[in-house]
Amino acid sequence: MALTSQGTKKKVCYYYDGDVGNYYYGQGHPMKPHRIRMTHNLLLNYGLYRKMEIYRPHKASGEEMTKYHSDDYIKFLRSIRPDNMSEYSKQMQRCKFAQGGDEVSASSQGALNKQQTDIAINWAGGLHHAKKSEASGFCYVNDIVLAILELLKYHQRVLYIDIDIHHGDGVEEAFYTTDRVMTVSFHKYGEYFPGTGDLRDIGAGKGKYYAVNYPLRDGIDDESYEAIFKPIMAKVMEMYQPSAVVLQCGADSLSGDRLGCFNLTIKGHAKCVEYMKSFNLPLLMLGGGGYTIRNVARCWTYETAVALDTSIPNELPYNDYFEYFGPDFKLHISPSNMTNQNTNDYLEKIKQRLFENLRMLPHAPGVQMQAIPEDAVQEDSGDEDEDDPNKRISIRAHDKRIACEEEFSDSEDEGEGGRRNAASFKKVKRAKTEGDKEGEEKEKKGEEEAKGIYSFFSFSSHHTCHFVTLISFNILNQITVCNTELGLVVVVMVFFSYL
Ligand SMILES: [Zn+2]
Repeated sequence: MALTSQGTKKKVCYYYDGDVGNYYYGQGHPMKPHRIRMTHNLLLNYGLYRKMEIYRPHKASGEEMTKYHSDDYIKFLRSIRPDNMSEYSKQMQRCKFAQGGDEVSASSQGALNKQQTDIAINWAGGLHHAKKSEASGFCYVNDIVLAILELLKYHQRVLYIDIDIHHGDGVEEAFYTTDRVMTVSFHKYGEYFPGTGDLRDIGAGKGKYYAVNYPLRDGIDDESYEAIFKPIMAKVMEMYQPSAVVLQCGADSLSGDRLGCFNLTIKGHAKCVEYMKSFNLPLLMLGGGGYTIRNVARCWTYETAVALDTSIPNELPYNDYFEYFGPDFKLHISPSNMTNQNTNDYLEKIKQRLFENLRMLPHAPGVQMQAIPEDAVQEDSGDEDEDDPNKRISIRAHDKRIACEEEFSDSEDEGEGGRRNAASFKKVKRAKTEGDKEGEEKEKKGEEEAKGIYSFFSFSSHHTCHFVTLISFNILNQITVCNTELGLVVVVMVFFSYL
């Protein structure tokens, strides 16, 4: 339990699956699931696990995923296997992924009891680009949309905020014509993936004025970011009055990101968490982008501490990936000397334009609430099965996990081959992704970060059918269910795709 500034206790539930970091998406691909494991290991070594409840997430079923995605699309995702991927070469040019076998399936999972938490964290979630029938930007299934759909069963208005450097296009598109979800995205705009998120994109039909886009230029720093984030969000909260908040904490907006071009420090990034938390509403915190993985781990560890109202020292504790954090071995990062191309005039002008739009909103639009549909994930049956992934992992068990050599021993150097894929899968060209335009020139720099990742094949031999099977090591799918004090049920599904 953490004590908020208001003196009320905040309960934080944290979701993590130890298998997540085992996915490897190929040499040079900027998206590295290993970053989730690095984050987890770092926050464990800071002792943060003692202050929150840790759960293993539930795996999503196809049925759960079609709550948003089209049946055909999910069927397509499920139908691809390593042995038949050549038959799908045309589609695979757009979406390089696969899944097979029997396991998009949820492991036996019970939803946690409702009204149990104030803040839920899933750093493996936040894949904001996936569309209803299309993969995009390393995302196949949009966990955020699915989570919000669950929230809408209990909440009249849900606020979605996106501080990833890329526009939160998939989430915006899903809720573009409704006033039940307001989407607010702060992102780099102009010759940058995914190309959407213009200031003038404000929603349509009933959703007009319920999409908010803050286009930014290169080099925004902490001071400028705070000077726009707080007033915009204060106005949004005043006008919209949501009863639940989803915050996508993409860490590619940090200074020095492999694909990014902003200049935020971890403290500056975390100010957004701190600020949204201060409204004392049920808060779902998700990951997202983040391609300089040592900084992703630093950032999400620190933001976990912020959620817990706990201060942690700048000196990093020893951890399984300690060598990644050299030469300084500190938690916090310094901004670079890059130019902030967002002048005060520019930022002020955009802010005023957004305020004008926000003033068009009726205060807190009401909706007619209907009978609550069935939850996507059923509550825990009380089954004591040790393998129940939704069961809380006890601290003792967690300590065991920390000590478990096997779990964290896969940190061989990528350069030496290690456990990397031995089979030479033909690379399939993708449609544009976050990495296409931005990643290539920075690819080399990122190679050193690919340490310690199993290949799909070595992984699958250990964990047959535990996760979605991958073609070219490409998919991860998980689902999280948690609850807040207001009866929130959150479903978080994750589909990563890596090259
Ligand atoms: Zn991003």
